[in-house]
Amino acid sequence: MNLEESSPEKNKKINIAIDGYSSCGKGTLAKQLAQHLGYIFIDSGSMYRAVTLFILDQEIDPQDEAAVEARLSDIDIRFDLNGDSGRFEVVLNGVSVESRIRDLRVSSQVSYIAKISAVRRKLVEIQQKIGFNKGVVMDGRDIGTVVYPNAELKIFMTASSEVRADRRYAELKQAGQNVTWQEIYDNLVSRDSIDSNREDSPLTMASDYRVLDNSNLSREEQFALAMTWVSAALNEIG
Ligand code: C5P
Repeated sequence: MNLEESSPEKNKKINIAIDGYSSCGKGTLAKQLAQHLGYIFIDSGSMYRAVTLFILDQEIDPQDEAAVEARLSDIDIRFDLNGDSGRFEVVLNGVSVESRIRDLRVSSQVSYIAKISAVRRKLVEIQQKIGFNKGVVMDGRDIGTVVYPNAELKIFMTASSEVRADRRYAELKQAGQNVTWQEIYDNLVSRDSIDSNREDSPLTMASDYRVLDNSNLSREEQFALAMTWVSAALNEIG
């Protein structure tokens, strides 16, 4: 399916932007909302991760901006629908890389790649095309500020660093990865700092965001709260 043509009922759908710190459950909420509403869920972080994977595989230093920029035209990023999971998965140069982009090798370098303006321009253009016909839930760091500044609903998610590290650690352990809690915690804190302080499209909460701190909320509670905001946004467009 062509993502740009996937949503014919243009006027009845909204775009939902979910931004926030690393590992605070943005993807979980985005997935729940997309499933419930019949929308497309796009994890924009997976695109930055796929670019990082390419750069690392080419043995290029992610902090060497000129070298990264010089290889951008060799990188094709798209999404394919996985029939089993029903999810759109990121595809790098024709190969699905979902299973390779979540480990610490990529996580520890991705925020350097995401600082590079040429990388952001390339990925934002793809993200904007995907959302052109509405009906998209996208999570990331700059979705409500840069990618979809006119999104009808913008949610800013947060949770304490310890709670986020606990959740991420449990996830990676379950996936069989050999990591320590401290490594995960340090990576989250470091990414949050680079993502919030970079010059181009930093993670910031503008006044038009609804704030969702889920440190003490279950998945069901956060979904119910977000759905009240979705209903309000849908009512507003009539
Ligand atoms: O969402 P996730 O944690 O997988 O994102 C990985 C990294 O990609 C973030 O830490 C950030 O550096 C970058 N990112 C970004 N803008 C987005 C999504 C992700 O800069 N919209």
